[in-house]
Parts: sequence; structure tokens; C-alpha cells
Amino acid sequence: MTVYLVGAGPGDPGLLTVRAAQLLARADVVVHDRLAEASLLDLAPVAARRIDVGKAPGGPIRQDAINQILIAEAAACGTVVRLKGGDPFVFGRGGEEAQALAAAGVAFEVVPGITSAVAVAAYAGVPVTHRGLSTCFTVVTGHRRAALDTETDWSALAALGGTIVVLMGVAHRAEIASRLMAGGLEATTPVAAVQWGTRPEQRTVRTTLAALGAAGVQPPATMVIGAVAGLDLTWYENRPLLGRRVVVTRAREQASGLADLLAAAGARSIEVPTITVVEPGDGGQSLRRAGVELGAGRYDWVVFTSANAVVRFVAVLHDVRAFGAARVAAIGPGTANALVARGVVADLVPDHSIAEGLLDAWPAPPAGGGRVLLPRAEQARPTLPDTLRGAGWDVDIVDAYRTVRQQPSGAALAAAASADAICFTSSSTVSNYLDVAGAAGLPPVVVCIGPVTAATARHAGITVTAVADPHTVPGLLNAVVGALR
Ligand code: SAH
Repeated sequence: MTVYLVGAGPGDPGLLTVRAAQLLARADVVVHDRLAEASLLDLAPVAARRIDVGKAPGGPIRQDAINQILIAEAAACGTVVRLKGGDPFVFGRGGEEAQALAAAGVAFEVVPGITSAVAVAAYAGVPVTHRGLSTCFTVVTGHRRAALDTETDWSALAALGGTIVVLMGVAHRAEIASRLMAGGLEATTPVAAVQWGTRPEQRTVRTTLAALGAAGVQPPATMVIGAVAGLDLTWYENRPLLGRRVVVTRAREQASGLADLLAAAGARSIEVPTITVVEPGDGGQSLRRAGVELGAGRYDWVVFTSANAVVRFVAVLHDVRAFGAARVAAIGPGTANALVARGVVADLVPDHSIAEGLLDAWPAPPAGGGRVLLPRAEQARPTLPDTLRGAGWDVDIVDAYRTVRQQPSGAALAAAASADAICFTSSSTVSNYLDVAGAAGLPPVVVCIGPVTAATARHAGITVTAVADPHTVPGLLNAVVGALR
């Protein structure tokens, strides 16, 4: 029965505090504003209710109505998270919500957030204080008429000589600039107006006080006024994929590695998983039996052709010492990393992350013959086991998992069709995506992780823009950057 007034930061999910993430993870209800990032709301349990108080017919819900919602939800549920942009107590009306809760006898806690006043400036490469340029910063609202006319002493602000950060001031920017100039600030004073700061859509307009009124600036924006705004320490907007929208088709459990790399490059990833990984048809029985056999020393090699197979197989082993003297091969670095994360270092990782690469590097069996265990997807290609058998090895194929079709939402498909690029990480993602979205649902740029996937795509009539080399997730990211440059 506690309401948590939680700061969400300015948008970049990485700027959420640890405490905020913990509370979201156990929220029963999340009451959020219009600007809340969808990926932050995804941190709450699927079953948690999400109440958007930024949306109502005819405008946002009134503050007293929001207060009533918080009080009512606190009475009905366990954990109520009131998620607010930036910091809840910096122009967030968090103070009013706390007063209303206190008056109603509802317990509350405050989780401060990173305010856009400082973080958005930082993401534009503008330090709000800087030795020799500015010894203080003032954060003001430019929203209300009263703030413009009587509540804020703009002349005193101008006389203070430090950095002025204006929130909610886009609509009144011409008037704010003229009041500051009337107060004595030079017409040439630098201004950085940052739209959608810390998000892939970030755009900084650099101008001067005199030109601010005529500059094209759209809300939401943070305006930084003062000598520091003349420093050009741009970094975020230099990211190679800034603002680009890229479709990721891997199953949700696997998508995040690529999604994280895309986000770090500035892109917004649109996850359209078309397959999901489930138990194999026999419920994992043969996989468990293979684990016991391995522990009994019956195999010379264990070969992994996907991180999924590693996750599934190691989970049934209970103890990685079951590998004993058996040697371990991984098809590529992603699979090898999944092994390392579970305490196993692969003995063989080929240079080319495809089955053929593994075969090139494969040793001949010992004189009396040798046994290979291959835990993998039910639907995998026969090339690898066939060739190993041809070379004289005994190969046991064990079903570690199965991939099944998943139907994405109409909204996800529409967002995907209008994206800049799409990444395919396996042949099955190509055929599954075409089945659910059709050729018309493809963005203009198509990037495949390797030659096998590219061949499948071309066979289906798709023009492949680029093929990753190396055939890894980081290689895929580089190929996307190259294709969209
Ligand atoms: N409590 C919030 C501020 C709420 S007022 C905080 O501490 O950040 C809302 C204003 O904040 C917007 O009008 C805009 O001026 C600024 N703002 C919020 N998020 C922003 C973002 N991502 N980019 C630029 N400005 C932002």
C-alpha cells in the first residue's frame, strides 16, 4: 500500500536508476505520462496494469484526477509506481502528488530521477557548468503565462551570469529571449535547443538568443542558454545510426543482444520476433539422457551450433564437470560466449561462423572411431552431421529445442514496414518474416548475418543489401552501419 513517486529519467532506458528498475519489476500498477518510453514500461510484469494519465479525450487528465487515481490504486493494490519523466520533484508536480497522498494518509516514497535539465544538455555535449564560462545554472519553466509575466524575474536571471536552462519553453521562446536580452544578455549569447534529448530522435538546434524565436524548435525540448551552449562537445548525435529504425527478427529471448548493439549505435530497434524457442517435442527427455551419457564419458566431442543449444543443454547438466574430458566446439563467437558465461571454454571455434567453417577445422576421428554429441534445434540442416559421419565419426543428434511461429501484432508489422532496415539472423527468420509480413512489409535495406541466410532471402526474391562479415551479431551491426551510411 505504498505509492512510489519514481523518476524515469529523460528517456534513454540506461538513465533509469537501479531503484526505479527494481520497483518497476515488482509493480502491480504503473501510472505513467504521455512521454514515457515504451521500453521502460516493459520492465513492469506483463500482468501489471499500465495507466496512461497523459491521454484523455480533450487533453491530459487533470492533476487532481491523477491524485485520486493514485489514492484509489494504493487502496486496491500492493505496489503502485507513479512513473514521471526526469526527476519527480523538478517541474514534475511530484510535490503536489506527495501532498495529496499524505493528506489521504497513503504511504509514499520518492525515487529521484536524472533530470532532463542536466542530462539532456549533457547528451547534446553541453556541460551546465564549466570552469571559466559558468559558475552556476538556473532551471526555469517557460510554460505558464504567469511564469513569464510575474513569477520569474528574467532580468535578475540575466544579471546572474550563469547558465539558464529552460524547460517547457518552446512555445514562448521568442518572448523569453527578448526578456533576457532586455535584462542585459547579449543578442549573440549561444543557445542549444535540444529536442527529444537522450532518445534516438534527439536533435540539437544551435542558435543565439536573437535568433531563437525564429529557429525551428519542436517540443519537447530543453533550451540551454549561456556561454556553455557555445561549446561543441557533440557526442550522442555522432552515433552512426542515430534515429535510424531497424527491425530485429530474432526470437525475443535472443533479440536483445542485437537490440542492445543497435541502441548503442543510436538506432531505435523495432522487435518483430516471428519465432519463439520452446521445449523439443519429447519435452527434453533425450537431452537429459545425453547429459547423463556425457557425464559417463561416452563422447569425444560436443558440438554447439547455437547459443540456444548451449543454454538448454547446460541447464540439464546440473554441473559442467559432466563435460569431463570431452572436447567442445562452438560454431561461432556468440555460441562460444554463451559457453564461457556457463564456465566452459570451447576447444574449437572456426574462423567462419557457418557449418562449413566448422567442418574445415574438424580433426579426423581417432583410430578406434569417435563419438560426437550434437544437441541442436529440431529443424536444423543435415550438412554438419552428414559430413561428420562421412569422415568416420559416430554422431548422436539430440533435440535441444524447437522454434515455433509467433504472430506479431499489426502495429509491430506496420512499424517494421516503415523502418529503414531489417536484420535477418537465420534462414528461418527470413521465411517466417515473409509469411507474416509479405514482401511489402520489408524495409528498403535488408541485411543478413551470413551467406546461408542471404541465399534463402535471395531465393525468396528479396534483394539483399549487405551480408555481415564476420557472420556474427557485431558483424551484422557493422553491415547495417555500412548499408545505411
Ligand atoms: N521532471 C522533468 C521535467 C518535467 S517538465 C525532469 O526532471 O526532466 C517537461 C519538460 O522537460 C519538457 O517540456 C522539456 O522542456 C523537458 N524535457 C523532458 N524530457 C525531455 C527530453 N527527452 N528532451 C528534451 N527536453 C525534455
